Amino acid sequence: MGAPSSQAEIAGLAAALRAYVEYQRDLGVLGFPPASPAAPATAERVTAVPPTTADMFSAPGLGATRSLEELRAYIGDCRRCKLAPHRTHLVFGVGNPRARLVFVGEAPGRDEDVQGEPFVGRAGQLLTEIITKGMRLRRDDVYIANVIKCRPPENRNPEPDEVASCEPFLRRQLELIGPEVVVALGKFAVQTLLRTKAPITRLRGRWHDYHGIKLMPTFHPAYLLRNPVDKRLVWEDIQKVMRVLGIAGGRV
Ligand code: URA
Repeated sequence: MGAPSSQAEIAGLAAALRAYVEYQRDLGVLGFPPASPAAPATAERVTAVPPTTADMFSAPGLGATRSLEELRAYIGDCRRCKLAPHRTHLVFGVGNPRARLVFVGEAPGRDEDVQGEPFVGRAGQLLTEIITKGMRLRRDDVYIANVIKCRPPENRNPEPDEVASCEPFLRRQLELIGPEVVVALGKFAVQTLLRTKAPITRLRGRWHDYHGIKLMPTFHPAYLLRNPVDKRLVWEDIQKVMRVLGIAGGRV
C-alpha cells in the first residue's frame, strides 16, 4: 500500500487506527490486563472471544459487553461518525440472539432507516423469501445485521472512517451470538469482512473464515432484483449453508 494521498484517506486511516486501539483496549490487550472473566451467570452463549471485565479506571468497554442488550446500550445514541446526523434510526440488528446463522448486509436503506430494522425494503423481502421459502426457517430463527448501522445519505457507499467506527460493533455482535455460519450479502459486506478487494464473483460460493466462523459470501438481494438470473447461484450458495447446518429447506 502506498502513502495516503488525500485528506479523506488520512482521516480514514486515523479513524481505523483509533477504532482498532479502542477495540484492543476494550479487550484488555492494550493497557491494563483484564480481570479473570467471571463464570457466566446465565445461559448466555459462551462467546468465541471471551468477554473481558473493564479495568476499574474506565467505563465498561465494548469487550466487556455480555449480551446484545448491553452492546446496544454501549452503542447508545451513537455520534462516533458523520452518518449520525442523517439517520432516523440506528439499525442495530434483529433476530435470534443465539442464532446458528447470521446474514450480514451493507447498511440500512431508506425503509430500514425509517423502521429501525434491517432488510425490510424490497431487497429485504427477497432475503425473507430466501430464509422462509428457501431454507424453511423463520426470520426470527436467524439473525440479520449490517456492517454499518446508520443509513449513508442517498444510499452512497459507506466510507472507510464510517466502516472503522462501526465494524467493531458487528464483530462484537457476532462474538456474542456465536453463530456457526455467517452469510455475507454482496460485495461491500464480503470485502469488508474478509479484508479483500477480490471481486464477489470470485469469492462467492466458497467457504471463508471470519475470526473462526464459517463465512459464505453471496450476491446481495438488491443485486438479484436487478439480475434475477443469478438467483440460481445464490440458491447454490444457500444450499451449501444448509448442508453445513444440517437443514433441509425448500425451493425459492
Ligand atoms: N441493504 C442492506 O445491505 N441492508 C439492509 O438492511 C437493507 C438493504
